[in-house]
Amino acid sequence: MTDTFKKGLYFIPLGGADEIGMNLYAYSSNGKWIVVDAGYGFLNDDYPGMDMCYASPLFLEQFEGQIEGLFITHAHEDHMGAVAQIWPALKCPVYATPFAMGLIKERLKEYQMEDIVPLKTVHAGESVQTDSFNVKFLALVHSVPETCGLFIKTQYGNVFHATDWRMDDGLTKILHFDDDGLKKASEEGIDIFVCDSTNVLIDKRQPSEREIRENLLELIPQIKGGIVATCFASNIMRLESLILAAQKANRTPILMGRSLKTNVLIAKECGYMADLPKTYTPDEVEGITADKALYICTGSQANYRSALSIIAKGESKYVKLDNDYTVIFSSKIIPGNEDKIERMQERMIEKGVNVITEETAPVHTSGHPSKEELKTMYELLKPKIVLPVHGDKRFIRAHERFALSCGIKEVNAGKNGDVFRFLDGKLEKTQETVETDVIGIDRGRSVSLNSELIANRRRIAYNCSLFISAVVSKDNHLLNLEISSIDILPSADWEELSNEVVEKLTPILDTEILNRGLNAQTKDFIKSRIRKEVYQRTKIKPVTFLHIYQQGENQCQ
Ligand SMILES: [Zn+2]
Ligand SMILES: [Zn+2]
Repeated sequence: MTDTFKKGLYFIPLGGADEIGMNLYAYSSNGKWIVVDAGYGFLNDDYPGMDMCYASPLFLEQFEGQIEGLFITHAHEDHMGAVAQIWPALKCPVYATPFAMGLIKERLKEYQMEDIVPLKTVHAGESVQTDSFNVKFLALVHSVPETCGLFIKTQYGNVFHATDWRMDDGLTKILHFDDDGLKKASEEGIDIFVCDSTNVLIDKRQPSEREIRENLLELIPQIKGGIVATCFASNIMRLESLILAAQKANRTPILMGRSLKTNVLIAKECGYMADLPKTYTPDEVEGITADKALYICTGSQANYRSALSIIAKGESKYVKLDNDYTVIFSSKIIPGNEDKIERMQERMIEKGVNVITEETAPVHTSGHPSKEELKTMYELLKPKIVLPVHGDKRFIRAHERFALSCGIKEVNAGKNGDVFRFLDGKLEKTQETVETDVIGIDRGRSVSLNSELIANRRRIAYNCSLFISAVVSKDNHLLNLEISSIDILPSADWEELSNEVVEKLTPILDTEILNRGLNAQTKDFIKSRIRKEVYQRTKIKPVTFLHIYQQGENQCQ
């Protein structure tokens, strides 16, 4: 495989080409590599106990020493969240703009890695020259400050890599769109535009961040009673808007949630959120009446133990929701989180809370381009080829059709693990694919979602579990048999069933052990006979565990 990447510019999506999330893209030129983004994906209830995952960087490990940089486009979790997990496979410098770098540092501290990862802060407009790549960071507008598209130049051709961006009037000041830089890149020639597909099903340009600010400034002063507002912790423009709306409504802005605290701290270090009214922690303003407060908190995705989840469950000592409260979701739903969020909102509605979402009021705008915005960008960049990523298959296909309809001559899309080569002005998807995998973060440990462990968890979740304990005498008589389970039947029914099964099978198993001795086949027979009996009575084929103790032996078998 290493011989493959000699001549040409190669592009390999390891994560992000089949989904929104877990972005991890590799480029190769002259045997050298750069990697763009190292983000989390978000898991739904199919994986109990796990919220996050990331694309496996295993394929890249073989190129140790040849990887010239990890370039982070912006400070969203789906682009930088997994730096700590992915970096050990890359062992290269990490490049990011100051705000993203601040958050990366915080994340690395959690893993005691801040001193081993070489971090190189880059400002929008600056370039990084490596052996085989020149990477220029060009400012784009998105829902987090300092988002950049990467203009990647190689001897074989140029790529503009921009997975998260939108058009905006830029009037919230924090948001910059480097029109001139993009025009210059276009003049130099963009062969491939690796582009965002998130909102390709939306036709029209969406409201600007300024319009959302104006809406919040109008809406919030009209609300009576308590208000809780939630947005993404890294959406600094939105946080500013909420704080300004609190001021206009004569309310005290109170920030809740650890990630909000971290993001605000780093935003301030980067020079943002200056000249704003002071914000408080709930402890600093204990006893404040609900109608004088605007609680701004994390948890728009209903993550377990987030500030908003705690409030929704009635476990917050500061906010007790009732019919005098309004909760504003100034946020979107990350795909996969729909059920969790709906459950949380329903819990609030049951308490009489007035729940406002982007569906009921203009309180949020997306950070991704609609068709109209995509078309504007194509016209600005004039790419020869569009390569859609950052979307599931349906979105990628729609993006392919749309780009062609806009007059883009060539559109080429693939899936994670595909190997694209650009050579002599042509992009082809080669016959080769590289191995990909998805790694879940299981209470701090990394585990492949395709591993036997996860398959076993799923087997138990779907098929229940059965434990058999048996005591066998030295001369091969079954002295005691017990079967137990907590997930096959309600406990009273299970007790009755298990007694019947034990009573029926004890003589049969006793004979079997006596005749054959206690060997592997006998043990298999015991397991399958009991399992079969349980199946006949319940139609459940449980995952079965057997523990046999033979007297005279020193150990359980
Ligand atoms: Zn983003
Ligand atoms: Zn993204």
